[in-house]
Amino acid sequence: MADGGVEIATRTCETVTCEKPAKLQCPTCIKLGINGSFFCSQDCFKGNWSEHKKIHKKIKKQSGADGSAMKPYNPWPGYIFTGKLRPFPTTPKREVPERIARPDYADHPEGYPASEMTMRGNTQIKQLSKDEIEGLRTACRYGREVLDIAAKIIDVGVTADEIDRVVHEACMERDCYPSPLNYYNFPKSCCTSVNEVICHGIPDTRPLEDGDIVNVDVTVYHNGYHGDLNETFFVGKVDDRSKQLVRVTHECLMHAINEVKPGVRYREMGNIIQKHAQAHGYSVVKTYCGHGIHKLFHTAPSVPHYAKNKAIGVMKPGHTFTIEPMISEGTWKDLTWPDNWTAVTQDGKRSAQFEHTLLVTETGCEILTQRQENSGRPHFMDSLM
Ligand SMILES: [Zn+2]
Ligand SMILES: [Zn+2]
Repeated sequence: MADGGVEIATRTCETVTCEKPAKLQCPTCIKLGINGSFFCSQDCFKGNWSEHKKIHKKIKKQSGADGSAMKPYNPWPGYIFTGKLRPFPTTPKREVPERIARPDYADHPEGYPASEMTMRGNTQIKQLSKDEIEGLRTACRYGREVLDIAAKIIDVGVTADEIDRVVHEACMERDCYPSPLNYYNFPKSCCTSVNEVICHGIPDTRPLEDGDIVNVDVTVYHNGYHGDLNETFFVGKVDDRSKQLVRVTHECLMHAINEVKPGVRYREMGNIIQKHAQAHGYSVVKTYCGHGIHKLFHTAPSVPHYAKNKAIGVMKPGHTFTIEPMISEGTWKDLTWPDNWTAVTQDGKRSAQFEHTLLVTETGCEILTQRQENSGRPHFMDSLM
């Protein structure tokens, strides 16, 4: 049995069915550096205990804190990493209460999105109706709010797992399902990609370090629509090299968006992005592309970010898709960690990314995930030292 909780600021109780503000944090979690176990009362804490204590056991075992292994956490002995970043233990999958509508893959054992899979190979691009656009617009606005909330807690010592918890809770508060959760069995509610991680990093318990860059990719599913965006953030004092990489990556995205209008070929986006990246000595990741998005998380069109690509399709009013360039300091080549998700650069150098969900209008485009007045300080604008 645990000892009593420690007083903390208000949050929502961990108990899935309890929406009361949480006043107590599990003391064992604090000791173990698990930054995400809050309860409204001693009763709720005690009621959760038999389930909750499993988290302690898992983390202790993974970190060697149970004395079973005094060596650092290493899930893949013998694996040669390309850079300095290492995986850390992860916390258990977060639950989504039943009142929140779930996409089809949420409950599939392998996380297969049946609706998307039947459309695979189909290059036809859906033109959304007025009502459908309204549905997507709402999801995108919630996605923006969730990312902005996550951005506010990013700091030295904060773990990506804590970012994931904040994303998850902000989704719950908006009746949104966090789209990445269980998508092809992805284990967490958002992607957090640090330094040499290009994309699809799994939030874990590694404390962010001074000078890191971290991309947070949020997608929310609300009322049948997915809204998708990401930004790269600075942790503490970041050197000029990384600031430049992040700023240019954001410029790559905005330059491409500026050319979005009816009649433009999707393949043109890559030419614009690569031209700007190359002018600054950077490379463009080829493995991961922007994508159509609406009732499906990933669908036609495919939007490569590199030059001379063979993407199919011409922009028409009502098309909705993402542009999300991943720009690397060194090689464009990527490699995937044995977790089958984390994409890293082959040379271990840094990579940055920005993403918006866009709507093609009659005359140009609307950024459905655009920053709002209260979005907070945009890190990518930070001036060089
Ligand atoms: Zn995306
Ligand atoms: Zn995304």
